[in-house]
Amino acid sequence: MQLLRRIFKTAGCLILCLNSVSSIAEAPNSQCFGTTSQGKLKHGVILPKKGDNFVVFSELAWHLGRTYVHSKVAEVVLSAYQQLATQSADKKFMYAETGWIKGGKFSPHKTHQNGLSVDFMVPVVDKKGNSAYLPITVKNKLGYNIEFDAAGKFEQYTIDFNVLALHLKVLNETAKSLGFGISRVFFDPKLQKKLFATEQGDYLKANIKFNTKQAWVRHDEHYHVDFDLPCESL
Ligand SMILES: [Zn+2]
Repeated sequence: MQLLRRIFKTAGCLILCLNSVSSIAEAPNSQCFGTTSQGKLKHGVILPKKGDNFVVFSELAWHLGRTYVHSKVAEVVLSAYQQLATQSADKKFMYAETGWIKGGKFSPHKTHQNGLSVDFMVPVVDKKGNSAYLPITVKNKLGYNIEFDAAGKFEQYTIDFNVLALHLKVLNETAKSLGFGISRVFFDPKLQKKLFATEQGDYLKANIKFNTKQAWVRHDEHYHVDFDLPCESL
């Protein structure tokens, strides 16, 4: 019985996993227009709800269609997660809002309009030092209202700066291998110092542009990444 259950579980996963991979592989290439703050998207693809080492921050947001991106961005995001699953198998990742299937105004965000923006929730460890997911509730505005202190702590959670830095490096390197890169990362300037103090800090400083001032919202619970694929004019 145990074995049967396991076989069904594996088969189920295989079918689901293949489905999610093929839906992206078969989708036509996306086309972006304009800029992240005034743009649109054609043939946007939805990111999968979860994989071996990652989940969407909110299934509700996923069902509402708030996690569409340009197909090339999806390729980078998913490939990066795959690489991290091999390198750091015990680390958990969570992505958040990206954009609409056709792009356009994406309230309350000021950008996220042409499929090139992705919000990622910060990777955290719990009290025991184990990789954990941030608690996402309606009360904390699906995680966006969580406030980390200057040391990168919130309740029993601490930002895993090493893993965050590694994630950014892998995203940048993967995008570069496909012929583009990251145009900018938004993350709380005070917390950036902790990021730059990690093993990958020098790489990040030399290869990725970060915001130098506080953005319109404090990016402490999430980091916002804009990719720099060329887009057609609006
Ligand atoms: Zn954002």
